[in-house]
Amino acid sequence: MSSSPENAAMLAEAQAWRARDLAAVWHPCTQMREHPDTLPLVPIARGEGPWLVGMDGRRYLDAVSSWWTNLFGHAEPRIAAAIARQATTLEHVIMAGFAHAPAVELAEGLLARAPREDGRAPLARVFYADNGSAAVEVALKMSFHAHSNRGDARRTRFVALGGGYHGETLGALSVGDLPLYRRVYAPLLMEPLFAPSPDAGLALPGESAEACALRAADALAALLAEHGDSVSALILEPLVQCAGGMRMYHPTYLARARALCDAHGVHLIADEIATGFGRTGTFFACEQAGIQPDFLCVSKGITGGFLPLAAVLTTAHVYEAFLDDSRERAFLHSHSYTGNPLACAAALATLGIFAEDDVVARNRATAARMATLAADLAAHPHVAGLRQTGMILAFDLVADAADGTPFDSARRTGLRAYRAAIDRGVVLRPLGDTLYWMPPYCIDAPTLDTLAQVTHEVVEVATR
Ligand SMILES: *Cc1c(COP(=O)(O)O)cnc(C)c1O
Repeated sequence: MSSSPENAAMLAEAQAWRARDLAAVWHPCTQMREHPDTLPLVPIARGEGPWLVGMDGRRYLDAVSSWWTNLFGHAEPRIAAAIARQATTLEHVIMAGFAHAPAVELAEGLLARAPREDGRAPLARVFYADNGSAAVEVALKMSFHAHSNRGDARRTRFVALGGGYHGETLGALSVGDLPLYRRVYAPLLMEPLFAPSPDAGLALPGESAEACALRAADALAALLAEHGDSVSALILEPLVQCAGGMRMYHPTYLARARALCDAHGVHLIADEIATGFGRTGTFFACEQAGIQPDFLCVSKGITGGFLPLAAVLTTAHVYEAFLDDSRERAFLHSHSYTGNPLACAAALATLGIFAEDDVVARNRATAARMATLAADLAAHPHVAGLRQTGMILAFDLVADAADGTPFDSARRTGLRAYRAAIDRGVVLRPLGDTLYWMPPYCIDAPTLDTLAQVTHEVVEVATR
């Protein structure tokens, strides 16, 4: 980097913001002791397409879509304009007793896009929340309450999958299986029944991804045979267990899980908070198994990455279980910002872009290019488990790819990769020693080439 006076001023400004930040802000999912020495803190001035522009003038390719929220690039003008229009019309209104056009139109738009299954009544109602964890809380409570309103209050347990993640609030954390986030709070949490993950990475030698998924489904069948009549719902992330390490599995598991839930009167909650909105190759991941859940949780990409918003879609059957003269039989859950008009306007603009730009088809071409660019990583002696579902591509950095021996965690290989990538102007935030690409959909071919080149360098630097 040149040391022109202008650059020096920008570097000083970035440094000043870093110092003010570290004196006042507590960052999420961060051991603050690691700032600033182990982990760089990167003050950002603005965003442009898939790029973040630092206050120091450096550009960073956002290869993780800012925690999987961004779809069409930062500061996308159509979404920005929709929010600006809405902000000067109606910024917010209490959602109990009042209606507004963006919430109604968005509910209609989400229901029209929801997964459909032959012979099953479609998802018919939308309940709004304002973040993914809250949507999970809504689905869990609504499931239990629907059973209870129908006279079956024995269903007090949930089934969740090994390696799953559903958020950080106590209910959502309860049904997650990531020890790093869960263990310390375990004394406070509900105890779900955990069924084994269908993760294709857990396949036995010679076993196909499909056979591995069916083996996990057999274990789920056994669990439900024993406990089915005390279970309210099964919650899962369709096709990709994202925070758990981008574990991917065969869609046949979802078909089996759907049938097992039906057989035991158990609701199926599909948490598509990360997989929804075109990320996996279809608009919703459930479509690839031809199944429809009883509850569909969406958030993250719903606003194109602009504003917090979440929704839970459910069936008329569930909805009708709450219709009664009694207030207690109603679903009294609420959040102050439920159905915020600005967020709904951003989400409507996002759905508009899907229709206008044929996003799902374009993503298939981008995903194919990602596969080509990453293919030779499979032969690297420190890379294992190269895998991809649509616009998510992941692999693990290991000590020995031949036998899958992981690196000693004290080596902090993932963190080394993160730092090497930041130094090269790319945001590759690993999950442990798992690196992944989950870029904004607008990433073009030359930018993908840059991402691939930096990734290859980073793998070398972090594993040597
Ligand atoms: C991110 C995530 C959540 C939690 O959403 P927040 O908005 O971060 O609370 C829940 N489920 C899945 C699958 C997620 O990826």
